[in-house]
Amino acid sequence: MVRGRYDSWLASKAAEAGAEVREHHRVVDVKRLEPMHYRVKAKHKGELRELDCRAVVGADGFPSLVASKLGFPKPSTKDFAASIQYHIQLTEEQVDSEYGDRVHFYFGVVKWGYAWAFPKRTQVAAGILSVASEERLQSLKAKLDGVLGLEKLRNVVRVEKHLIPHRLRPRLQLDCALLVGDTAGAANPVHWGGIWHARKTAEVAARNVARALEQENPAASAYEHEMRREVYAPYFRYDLVMQKMMYGMGLMRRALALAAEGNMDVIEAIDILLTSLEPHSKAFWKLLKAAPRLLLKA
Ligand SMILES: Cc1cc2nc3c(=O)[nH]c(=O)nc-3n(C[C@H](O)[C@H](O)[C@H](O)COP(=O)(O)OP(=O)(O)OC[C@H]3O[C@@H](n4cnc5c(N)ncnc54)[C@H](O)[C@@H]3O)c2cc1C
Repeated sequence: MVRGRYDSWLASKAAEAGAEVREHHRVVDVKRLEPMHYRVKAKHKGELRELDCRAVVGADGFPSLVASKLGFPKPSTKDFAASIQYHIQLTEEQVDSEYGDRVHFYFGVVKWGYAWAFPKRTQVAAGILSVASEERLQSLKAKLDGVLGLEKLRNVVRVEKHLIPHRLRPRLQLDCALLVGDTAGAANPVHWGGIWHARKTAEVAARNVARALEQENPAASAYEHEMRREVYAPYFRYDLVMQKMMYGMGLMRRALALAAEGNMDVIEAIDILLTSLEPHSKAFWKLLKAAPRLLLKA
């Protein structure tokens, strides 16, 4: 999936549904003036614009200006991973011979995380992530450099650094301001993917904002409650335990080795974790069923 294309498609769907999409507006301030009355300030081509609204949804990723301006408690360093990614220019032949058409994951390079290489036509996006308190960015960079080797490092054309959250914030709603996606801390703690979670939390938020606006009452929104019931209980609660199993107990490589041998419980657990087509509780129970073999595997 090409991310830019996907984001444009989402914006066009929102516009079709009646939203006014304003591009190139950088939010610089958000204030709650009174209950259900917010003032948002945004810069557009150097010009400051103001917008008054009854509800705000913080969807500006992580760390979030909207969340901090509105006074949501700050996440701690245990709640996110730090990542660094290189874009490496290669020839089409080099990409084909060294990476083929598969994505590559490297487990065991860091304890609480992994490295990856995603081949494109003439580039490879290669990165590493780890829970932030565990590994500082500088040591992550040294480990990624070690995985790639000097020759590839000479062809790095772009470097990106990101923080990816993996723990829902303790507060997700204040008055009529709600947080979704990475801003809510909603990426997956086992593989740190967060696109499915961003959509899921946005769906729960949309339903609750609509209810609060209809009833002119922020208390009509049960966002926190519905997030705990629909996102935390079936997904995150189990993901956090699986994070400890896979990284804390170092079972990830053994799980992948068992999957490669055709163990259906592990294969199905990985499938559920990656697609979220079923609750992650199911993935957890499947891994637990495979636990004796996982623990015994050398
Ligand atoms: C290197 C990397 C690879 C990843 N790969 C995957 C993957 O393969 N699969 C997967 O599921 N997840 C992946 N993720 C995680 C995924 O990108 C995020 O979890 C997901 O994008 C979260 O969506 P979001 O809409 O909440 O936030 P974002 O996608 O971060 O979107 C936030 C948006 O808000 C905008 N914004 C920020 N500040 C302001 C402001 N002040 N004013 C206006 N706009 C603002 C940003 O420009 C951005 O467009 C990856 C993350 C990284 C770092």
